[in-house]
Amino acid sequence: MADDPFENMLAQMDRAEEYADVDHGIFERLKHPERTLKVTLPVELDSGDVEVFEGYRCQFDSARGPFKGGVRFHPTVSQREVEALAGWMTWKTALVDLPYGGAKGGVICEPKDLTQNDLESLTRRYTEGIRRMIGPETDVPAPDMNTNPQTMAWMMDTYSMYEGHSVPQVVTGKPLEIGGTPGRVEATGRGVSIVTERLFEYLDRDLSDATVAIQGFGNVGSNAARLLDESGARIVATSDVSGAAYDPDGLDVGALAAHVSAGGLIEEYVAGDLRASPDDRRAADGGTRWDDPDAIGNDELLTLDVDVLIPAAVEGVITADNVDDLRASAIVEAANGPTTVAADEVLTERDVQVVPDILANAGGVIVSYLEWVQNAQEFSWPLETVNAELERRIGTAFDQTIDQYDENGLPDLRTAAYTLALERTASAHEYRGLFP
Ligand code: NAD
Repeated sequence: MADDPFENMLAQMDRAEEYADVDHGIFERLKHPERTLKVTLPVELDSGDVEVFEGYRCQFDSARGPFKGGVRFHPTVSQREVEALAGWMTWKTALVDLPYGGAKGGVICEPKDLTQNDLESLTRRYTEGIRRMIGPETDVPAPDMNTNPQTMAWMMDTYSMYEGHSVPQVVTGKPLEIGGTPGRVEATGRGVSIVTERLFEYLDRDLSDATVAIQGFGNVGSNAARLLDESGARIVATSDVSGAAYDPDGLDVGALAAHVSAGGLIEEYVAGDLRASPDDRRAADGGTRWDDPDAIGNDELLTLDVDVLIPAAVEGVITADNVDDLRASAIVEAANGPTTVAADEVLTERDVQVVPDILANAGGVIVSYLEWVQNAQEFSWPLETVNAELERRIGTAFDQTIDQYDENGLPDLRTAAYTLALERTASAHEYRGLFP
């Protein structure tokens, strides 16, 4: 079960059903995606070879509005994973009360083995493959793992070529120059940082000088690290596929971000080849931090004795096998589906507060919604307006989840979040009725 994210999502729904005011018939219907398209994508690579890739787009539920969800490029993409991610998008958009349903897309590939040209060809071919399904009023893709504003620009351009005019609203997470919004790139990390602060307020604990370990230093992990570091928290460990860096006194998040955005791996950063020596850096900023970090493994990062653990990479990393070794007192799920249900039950028992993915990483889809609204208005907002609206919306969802948890004596925050999301989605189904 731990290996199958879709089974994990169904088990999360089952855990919440007993507390949710949802008709059982509608609940059963919510366990099935509306549709999934599988596409075969032959692409001529720069090498001259033709490689055949496989991609998917799952549209899970549209009772509350157009489908919405990212596109992932990763070797472990599968139909079940895409369907689970589409389900999680459905519960996320309902929990943060956006007028959307949930969807997800993915292509099985190893992006680091592909050139920019290869990625462009693959993205365009994938977009052609799913273009009859997507559209500003039907299904609006966005970035996810290994996809970024450039990927969205290629998707938008390909879709627009077929339509005969520019359709910026068909995707979100675009570059600013073609209808993107300020604040989208860092939105998910900003949301993670906001909910972590809110959690600490709720627990009556001080975030300044709290220790944080973050698995994954991509878009979400690096932005969450930067913003939490600015709030005074100490980022003691972070990682990528190559391994993890650990410094109990706190990592130099800015130096790490500069290293990674220049294409470096964390393993190389720890080895020290590519960064200034601690003495040089102390001389530069007069600080006492920035000792050389230690190399640790991704598994060890998860079990560090920290105040907050933030998984921000892939699903299924906190499982029955390692949950007993976890020592963090709170977990903020920046990744989608990082915790299996079996591990969740243990964490609930141990009173470890887990801010569930559908709340913790909702900042991205909130700002995607704000981008979509600006495109529809043909009007652009300043960064301050976007960030204020993000904070208001994710803060409201956090407060509603806490109220649901406290007032109804629910076992954990995930169950509280799921009951709200399931009730809202079920209510939309009830109003709309069954066609024909
Ligand atoms: P990304 O591709 O920018 O970064 C992923 C990071 O995880 C990289 O540092 C990568 O090296 C690392 N990683 C990948 N596989 C790993 C493994 N097996 N072990 C350890 N580290 C590994 O992706 P991202 O956009 O930051 O997404 C990270 C997570 O956040 C995903 O679960 C994604 O679904 C979720 N998420 C992303 C967004 C968004 O707006 N980008 C929104 C909501 C949720």
